[in-house]
Amino acid sequence: MYRDGTRKSIWQEEIKRFSSDTDLNQPFDVAIVGGGITGASTALQLQRSGKKCILVEAANIGFGTTGGTTAHLDDFFDTTYAQAISDFGLDQAKLLAEAGKDAMRIIESNISGFNIQCDFEKKVAYLFALDEKQAKQLDDMVEASSKVGHIMEYTDQIPFPIPFEKAVIIPDQGQFHPIKYIKALCEAFMSAGGNIVEDCLCESHEEDNDQVIISTSKGKINVQQVVYATHIPPGVNKLHFTNAPYRSYVIAFGLKDNDYTQQLGYDLSDPYHYYRIHEINGEKLLIAGGEDHKTGHTEDTGECFTRLENYVRQYFDLDIPYYSWSSQYYEPVDGLPYIGKMPGSNGRTYIATGFRGNGMMFGSLSSQILTDLIVNGSSKYEKLFDPGRIKVGAGFTNFVKENAEVVFDFVKDKLTREYIRSLEEIKEGEAKIIWYDGDSYALYKESGGKLHALKSTCPHAYCEVRWNSAELTWDCPCHGSRFSVNGRILTGPTVENLRRIDLEADN
Ligand SMILES: Cc1cc2nc3c(=O)[nH]c(=O)nc-3n(C[C@H](O)[C@H](O)[C@H](O)COP(=O)(O)OP(=O)(O)OC[C@H]3O[C@@H](n4cnc5c(N)ncnc54)[C@H](O)[C@@H]3O)c2cc1C
Repeated sequence: MYRDGTRKSIWQEEIKRFSSDTDLNQPFDVAIVGGGITGASTALQLQRSGKKCILVEAANIGFGTTGGTTAHLDDFFDTTYAQAISDFGLDQAKLLAEAGKDAMRIIESNISGFNIQCDFEKKVAYLFALDEKQAKQLDDMVEASSKVGHIMEYTDQIPFPIPFEKAVIIPDQGQFHPIKYIKALCEAFMSAGGNIVEDCLCESHEEDNDQVIISTSKGKINVQQVVYATHIPPGVNKLHFTNAPYRSYVIAFGLKDNDYTQQLGYDLSDPYHYYRIHEINGEKLLIAGGEDHKTGHTEDTGECFTRLENYVRQYFDLDIPYYSWSSQYYEPVDGLPYIGKMPGSNGRTYIATGFRGNGMMFGSLSSQILTDLIVNGSSKYEKLFDPGRIKVGAGFTNFVKENAEVVFDFVKDKLTREYIRSLEEIKEGEAKIIWYDGDSYALYKESGGKLHALKSTCPHAYCEVRWNSAELTWDCPCHGSRFSVNGRILTGPTVENLRRIDLEADN
């Protein structure tokens, strides 16, 4: 498995192993935990700024969301400039617009500086309203964009076969192949003397006045600073209360002819649908995405693909789906990412998370912010993206709602487990949480009859996991930890597997 799900993403064939025989006993300046776009970009920038770095990845480079993204490079964000002005004020919203430009500059400069062949293309984006309510929202977005110096212009036509009420064109957007890109960043990092250690789970860290000691599955590492590029860091901390995990679904369809636009398209539905073309192995495919929901909060995740496919086929005449996959992103309660010093740290532990659907940009921007903070002690973005902020007003209702839902999920799942009389009751391909002899278990029967049994309580915060039929995984609805049918960790913040039950031994 090269990705944190059973389905293959369109990018997956490019994922390769980085083998390294790094001696973990030597001291390092900075450990970067997590080998997605955030970790790879940050490791490279820190190493080039003179720091001796080690990149530690639990599985393989590209295993997480970067291996399951759609890699649009947009400087208009899921949190609109209208929302940013209303919640953070005009000056901060202008800084957010600057962040978008900086992120694009970082990506372009990496691509040209390291001569990265990653199918990078500049594009025009079309944002279209499907009804009057969305049209009003679009008007607000255009007005706010002009206030922050971001270009959006009305247009009467869009190159997508979708009826629309109102639309805008946004110049200077982009797309690329995310795995080709981060693979090249990792190679540049190693050429600059950096170290990569895969299959190395970071379990915890201890920070004191002189150093940070990281405990990993391969031993302890001594560093001056640690950067968590893992979404939510391991353990229980404040970030769990300010970020909620969401799943999003993607299908890559074959095209019937070449009469498809090469530009980027997005509607304003909630959740929104998005479209773009990418050529894989000489064949152009239409990538379409949407159907987002909170992790563990949809009964049948497989149906999300059916709904997405039916929706897209209403408008586009397409060949078969070649790929379909889902992946996980994190919603920050007040709409802006958390990039900077970890809450509670005395200045040696850093974090970059809460990117919504804009992690290609914010993950890249994180490399600059974190390098500035670690090397120079300050960044122009440190206040805007401060991980320690609690902004009552912006996001406070979400903060209360998301955390009330976590408590509700915790209690509800403890009360609603099923009893079964015999394991024969579970059909092939079926998964169930059952109650047996005072304990609860997660059972999955493969086609062919092999039964996998696990303790169903997530070791992170003791919520009950729920079945994800789309990816054949057990997902925790509270903080987004995910496990394979064997109980192996796929996604943190847990650092422990689900306990396997040996059914043979119990008989
Ligand atoms: C379907 C979908 C489509 C998207 N489309 C776009 C888009 O078009 N444009 C855009 O800008 N953004 C998009 N996003 C968001 C973007 O893909 C993510 O925000 C981004 O990939 C996050 O990168 P990352 O490096 O922070 O995390 P990841 O890529 O998830 O990397 C984190 C890594 O950390 C590792 N890890 C975790 N815990 C540990 C530990 N304890 N020890 C060691 N390693 C650990 C994981 O194995 C993983 O490899 C999309 C997201 C989804 C879900």
